[in-house]
Amino acid sequence: MKQKPKIAIISLTSCEGCEIAVLDLGAKLLEALKNVELVSFKYMMEASLCNKRNELPSCDIAFVEGSPANKKDIELLKEVRKKAEKVIALGHCAHLGGVQRMKNYGDKEKIAKSVYKQYKKIENNDGGGIDKYIKVDGVIPGCPITKDEFLRSLIAALAGREFEIEESPVCYECLNNSYECLLQKGEICLGPVTLGGCGAICVKSGQACWGCRGFLPEVLPLRDGACPVSTNAKLENLRSKLKEIASEEDIEGVEEIFGLRRD
Ligand code: SF4
Ligand code: SF4
Ligand code: SF4
Repeated sequence: MKQKPKIAIISLTSCEGCEIAVLDLGAKLLEALKNVELVSFKYMMEASLCNKRNELPSCDIAFVEGSPANKKDIELLKEVRKKAEKVIALGHCAHLGGVQRMKNYGDKEKIAKSVYKQYKKIENNDGGGIDKYIKVDGVIPGCPITKDEFLRSLIAALAGREFEIEESPVCYECLNNSYECLLQKGEICLGPVTLGGCGAICVKSGQACWGCRGFLPEVLPLRDGACPVSTNAKLENLRSKLKEIASEEDIEGVEEIFGLRRD
């Protein structure tokens, strides 16, 4: 009998919200898992056996959530790369470093001191995505991910196809759903330069887009820190508009949340 493809879902430092989004697929996840062998996913297996560098089995696809924040994460991540045919970044933490990347914009030591009592014991590396340490084969963006994109990426990977996300901004989703534009109402919204696909879910809830899915053409292929000229032009247009309604400090404050501020 033909062996089923082996899938691992691995977690580094994170809130684990992207794993919860995977679980939230419910019956659809159970149906998809009939076609694969799950070799590591702590929410559906014996947790003590998962996310352990020495216990990691070989697999066809490893989805990695979280950012490599310390030595243990980095060692696990490098082992994942050795054991997996394909490695896919699952969510913003793995893609671009998560909200913890905000510390890159300030005094890291001061920030650690304000958070941890024993801050000297904390490994306080720069924040960033998993591509700082390993080659990455694909990205499922967002904080958290859009669960149906996980399913589509799994199906595509199993079929040997590239997983593609339409390159259109979040604004298109507002237009398609007739959501009231918050930028027009004077709020700092990064939707015009952010990759769509989330259904503009924040705007639907009355919250402006903070860009958790990354800049538009930057997401595929994954290129942390690189901003193509076309995006730069759009970004400058957006920034001019934002400067009419907000201070530079407030704009940068929003851009920093998901690592979109350019120095
Ligand atoms: S991307 Fe967001 S939801 Fe996912 S693990 Fe990171 S912080 Fe949590
Ligand atoms: S609310 Fe934001 S994402 Fe939606 S249309 Fe306005 S600028 Fe674009
Ligand atoms: S609206 Fe913006 S911040 Fe909200 S989920 Fe979509 S991309 Fe992320």
